[in-house]
Amino acid sequence: MAPPLRSICVFCGARPGTNPVHAATAQAVGAMLARRGWRLVYGAGDLGLMGETARAAIAGGAGTMGVIPRHLMQAEAAREDLATLVVTETMHERKKVMFANSDAIVVLPGGAGSLDEFFEVLTWRQLGLHAKPIVLLDSAGYWEPLVALVDHVIAHGFADASLRGFFARVEDVAALERALADAVG
Ligand code: AMP
Repeated sequence: MAPPLRSICVFCGARPGTNPVHAATAQAVGAMLARRGWRLVYGAGDLGLMGETARAAIAGGAGTMGVIPRHLMQAEAAREDLATLVVTETMHERKKVMFANSDAIVVLPGGAGSLDEFFEVLTWRQLGLHAKPIVLLDSAGYWEPLVALVDHVIAHGFADASLRGFFARVEDVAALERALADAVG
């Protein structure tokens, strides 16, 4: 039986995006983590969907760990009120610390940074370096082109079909909660 999930890494945009639904989704994720007693591990910022998730998690009493490179502390408005704040020297170190301190990875809508983070944990999974659940929260269908891209890569023979099985895609926060709870075993 898998150990209980305690820390959930959330990768998401440092911007809110144009569809206000995503901010509401991020708030619901933060609140859900708090309600389940799961700790939020994220990029420590107070902007965009990162900020929405963190504010809701903190308001609900969730444990929090933020990880941010020193050079982004101002630009991403690092929160000083997190239970744990880790300041790294590099972006690579940031991702490593976030990953090492998490039991599962959730990806909310975001930009190039969120894509980088998703593909890094996905490729590590493909290489058999870990077995942590990776869940795409497909808020308002935002990640549809990403899933299509993965299918395209498989269809053209640049990845094994198993790649698609290394992450789950859920449509709402209730389904995300079930996916994470199921992963507890
Ligand atoms: P974005 O999805 O582009 O809004 O970025 C989301 C978060 O990912 C932000 O906190 C970015 O600073 C961060 N980020 C962007 N690129 C990288 C990278 N190469 N390694 C680690 N974090 C990154």
